[in-house]
Amino acid sequence: MKSLSAAELLGVWEQGLTQYPVQRSLSLLAAACPDQSLEQLGSLSIGQRDALLLTLREWMFGTELVSVVYCPSCRDRLELTFNVGDIRVSSNADLTEVHLLQIADYHVQFRLPNSLDLTTLIPELVPDLAAVGSIANGTSAQQQLLDRCVLSIHQGESERAIHDVPATVLDTIVEQMADADPQADVQLDLSCPLCGHRWQSTFDIVSFFWSEIHTWANRIVREVHTLASAYGWREADILAMSALRRQLYLGMVGG
Ligand SMILES: [Zn+2]
Repeated sequence: MKSLSAAELLGVWEQGLTQYPVQRSLSLLAAACPDQSLEQLGSLSIGQRDALLLTLREWMFGTELVSVVYCPSCRDRLELTFNVGDIRVSSNADLTEVHLLQIADYHVQFRLPNSLDLTTLIPELVPDLAAVGSIANGTSAQQQLLDRCVLSIHQGESERAIHDVPATVLDTIVEQMADADPQADVQLDLSCPLCGHRWQSTFDIVSFFWSEIHTWANRIVREVHTLASAYGWREADILAMSALRRQLYLGMVGG
């Protein structure tokens, strides 16, 4: 994986304006990993994908993340500052392997969900499914995900179809999928300094990073406009400058 130039990041942003979040995540990685096919990137588990996005975010915008949340109890506004390292999960597990699970007398083989799975789910139902564990029980999204990721279910010697298996077993499979890929479901432990309320909030690197890229892109397009208007420089030349040099010129034209 490599870092992205300003021109490359702007290109990904423009392409992503009409994409769903899962597609945006793949567009970013495709630009940063030109030696890998979209198929390969889409086959990474959600946690593997999010770990790469976290690293790319660190390279592009630094290690510090600043997020705003509202206390669910008193609605007070909290500004959170944390580091990439705080939410990076170290895992030695082989995330591409087939997982074996025994629940009561059911023997289950499954693999971890990936971005290709998410793109096939109904996007209206799961517009931003970063956390596999957040899929509601019994929804068609859960059913579709299980259809794709459960490789086999045996009860004794007999193979069972998913729709013949009790819902409690299916729920456990979904829970185990989430546990096996912890980077896919990052929870922040939060407490409100005003009212003392404690709760957990999901951190989704895809929507967080994309929101930052959107803000960045709108700013840099304005900077290009200001410098191109003042000096007549080409967009490509302005984007190729270091951010520092761009800021120096902007200071001189009062932009
Ligand atoms: Zn509060």
